[in-house]
Amino acid sequence: MKNAPMLLDKLVSLTGIQDIELMEFSLLKTLADFIRPQELSILKLDRRGLPCYQLQMRQERYEILSDNFSLSEEVFTALDIVQGTKQPFRKKLDTGSMLVTWHVQQTKMQNVFLVAVTSRELSKLDSHMIRGLLQIYRNFYQVLIEAQRDQLTGLANRKTFDDVIQKIYNQPAPFTDPVPVDRRSVFDDENVGYWLGMIDVDNFKRINDTWGHLYGDEVLLLLSQLMQHHFREGDFLFRFGGEEFVVIVRAGTKENALRAFERFRVTVEGHDFPQVGQVTVSVGMVKMDPEIFTATLLDRADQSLYFAKKKGRNRIECFDDLLQEGLVSVAEITTGGVELF
Ligand code: GH3
Ligand code: MG
Ligand code: MG
Repeated sequence: MKNAPMLLDKLVSLTGIQDIELMEFSLLKTLADFIRPQELSILKLDRRGLPCYQLQMRQERYEILSDNFSLSEEVFTALDIVQGTKQPFRKKLDTGSMLVTWHVQQTKMQNVFLVAVTSRELSKLDSHMIRGLLQIYRNFYQVLIEAQRDQLTGLANRKTFDDVIQKIYNQPAPFTDPVPVDRRSVFDDENVGYWLGMIDVDNFKRINDTWGHLYGDEVLLLLSQLMQHHFREGDFLFRFGGEEFVVIVRAGTKENALRAFERFRVTVEGHDFPQVGQVTVSVGMVKMDPEIFTATLLDRADQSLYFAKKKGRNRIECFDDLLQEGLVSVAEITTGGVELF
């Protein structure tokens, strides 16, 4: 197989990547180099079956679509078929090109597909190689996901936080290759904003002391489930460590963001935790801004949380309100980490 050394090189670089989006990009590039398609995409449908993400390569250009994009009837039908059969599906288009679709994997949140438009039928060798690469993708995806997950709750862990923030701010992580990806910053759109809430369980030490660590752990697990149920699919949830969580919500206004956290606070307050009974949380909320260092943002959320505790717990405090009240200042943190609450 004359392409074997090249394929091996590609695999080495593919599996050296620590980020799922980058791995997908690398997979697409590897496949494109081998099968030379007219178009090639990784396409994701959300739990409702609606397209939520597309990494597309067309005429050597890569583009990521994640909002308000639609698919042709032909592609939808093809996805429907491969989702059912889990077998690749091919169809000749009116243009004479071939549309080929593969089911890549189904996760809790998404169904992932590979879609190619090619000028010719794929050879047996091409098909075999694609199958193999997709299996490598699945295996490696699991490894990456496991490394990013908090063991107890299954939420994203602290390590992934900076990557997610970078993605939100639309600054692709440094590539060894410059990657021509078109992205529009959501921060250019005044109807969309992100708010970060630092959530801390109230008097958690008392829960541990009264009922023991195992019950404490159970509370954290149930809380994370309430969180997953409560917040929306486009929001980001993290367990930051101990009994601290960070949630980033996407909302049009501060009031909407505040409402999302307030509803969560009320949900927790009203939940009957087995044995333990009532548990409450306090939240410090801050508006995200690409101009502000992440360490500063976290510090501001932390300061707000401090006041939520000070004002009696089981409540939410917002950094800009505290600023207006003159209770906090806007000093920037430029180096080192921050001590969290
Ligand atoms: P406050 O309302 O001021 O937040 O009070 P608190 O008791 O929640 O605050 P504190 O930070 O003093 O206590 C947090 C406790 O959480 C201390 C630590 O033993 C416990 N803890 C940290 N991580 C875990 C964990 O993974 N499992 C359990 N069960 N307990 C944990
Ligand atoms: Mg606490
Ligand atoms: Mg704490």
